[in-house]
Amino acid sequence: MVALNPNATVLEEEGAFAVSDRAAELARDGRSIVNLGIGQPDFQPPAHILDAAEKAARDGPHGYTSPVGMPELREAVAGHVHGRIGVEVDPGQVIIVPGGKVTIFFACAMFGGAGTEILYPDPGFPPYREAVRFTGATAVGYPIREENDFAFDAEEVLSLITPKTRLIIVNSPANPTGGVVPKAQLDRLAEGLLAHPNVAILSDEIYSHQIYDGGPASLLQVPELRDRVVLLDGWSKTFAMTGWRLGYGVWPAGLIDHVRKLITINHSCVNGPAQMAALAAITGPYDAIDGFRKTFMARREVVVDGLNGLPGVTCRMPGGAFYAFPNVKNTGWHSTELAVRLLEEAGVALLHGGSFGDNGQGYLRVSYAASREAITEAIERMGDFLESAHPANPLRA
Ligand code: PLP
Repeated sequence: MVALNPNATVLEEEGAFAVSDRAAELARDGRSIVNLGIGQPDFQPPAHILDAAEKAARDGPHGYTSPVGMPELREAVAGHVHGRIGVEVDPGQVIIVPGGKVTIFFACAMFGGAGTEILYPDPGFPPYREAVRFTGATAVGYPIREENDFAFDAEEVLSLITPKTRLIIVNSPANPTGGVVPKAQLDRLAEGLLAHPNVAILSDEIYSHQIYDGGPASLLQVPELRDRVVLLDGWSKTFAMTGWRLGYGVWPAGLIDHVRKLITINHSCVNGPAQMAALAAITGPYDAIDGFRKTFMARREVVVDGLNGLPGVTCRMPGGAFYAFPNVKNTGWHSTELAVRLLEEAGVALLHGGSFGDNGQGYLRVSYAASREAITEAIERMGDFLESAHPANPLRA
């Protein structure tokens, strides 16, 4: 009998992939499925990106690149970050990785380990907790509340710091709620963190180009924190390139050698043609990307209006990303059962809020990275279902 590392046996799969697989299976069986489950833009990457990839697939680079990424790409990313949040970044601090997720895993590996604690948002992107637990660290969730418009409360986060805390993960705009943390809360967190010089921060800004209310704000903008903030971003959500597996981290200068070693152990480098496509993407033009954002904004209205019209459902207007997070506590349904039955019986794929943490119970995550027609059809099916079906164990209001 093999003996596994116990940390590997506690991991849970990310719900979005499980639901997507089930939705695809039902569709293969001939069922009509509307998929609002997976969080990926339903657009093609702009043509100039595809042209660059095609050329690179033919002409190269075909070999290994530097483990931390091609110099011209790191330089372009540094320029992009400067343009977005006004922070001068040395290209040497930029590390290109295969997907946004890799920076999460590396940050947890770098700061976690037995006897340490890492704070993460609950509800939040599921890999946070799993990556923390895999390192042997204790994952400590901090609540994200509807009454705060799904932003964290800085005082509450600060109150959870102990001498064992090594890292705080923050995410804005957020998955699964669409919440955007107001600048005042970020400032308060930054101020409080000055009293905890041993605590690092992972700032997950993968939805940096899907902000609808308010401007960009990042903890990397705080000069006193710059030597302990890791900024995560990438190509998946901004450029509709989820399957290309391209992401980057901006790391404190003192950590670059450590991350470089992890990369050489783990994956050597990101594939060359993908990096050439990434370079074309990040240097622009951005007309199509601005168009994506406007389309998401218009869909946001459709999805929120539609959800608020359903019996027992209320939904706040999300400030960013492409998710709505409706409260379904007054429908009489447990959100877990509701999500399963909506997929199996009404053919609507979405995620139950509890798959993002205990504080997500009673909510659903609805991705509006789908066509307006798909959104309208899903809302109609949800309405029919809520009016005709009944839960096995109704919740008491
Ligand atoms: N961070 C958040 C908050 C996300 O929602 C996602 C993807 O859903 C990622 C990171 C990872 O992005 P990628 O697909 O580039 O690994």
